[in-house]
Amino acid sequence: MKKYTTVKTHTFDGVKYGISKCERIDGVTDVPGEPEKLEMLILEGNSFRAFHSALHEGMEALGMCDECVHGYRDNGTPRTTDLARFLWRLGYRRIKTKK
Ligand SMILES: [Zn+2]
Repeated sequence: MKKYTTVKTHTFDGVKYGISKCERIDGVTDVPGEPEKLEMLILEGNSFRAFHSALHEGMEALGMCDECVHGYRDNGTPRTTDLARFLWRLGYRRIKTKK
């Protein structure tokens, strides 16, 4: 299994996460209380998909309800897509990445 390098840390609701970037999956977030050191993987890059990945995983780390984070709309897109699209249309995005 590929080993990911923590590039940042962030505290969600008092719980510190190591944040790593990955290229092949959208993202993964540890559940608080499980491992000693909590990790989050978000998608590398500046694309809308990468932005959505970070938003989605952050909502997961905050413990938002499963339907809010993983629910789908009738058209088959994740419910979180509308929130990501809203912020993206207002201009919120990552403008550079560190390798
Ligand atoms: Zn998720």
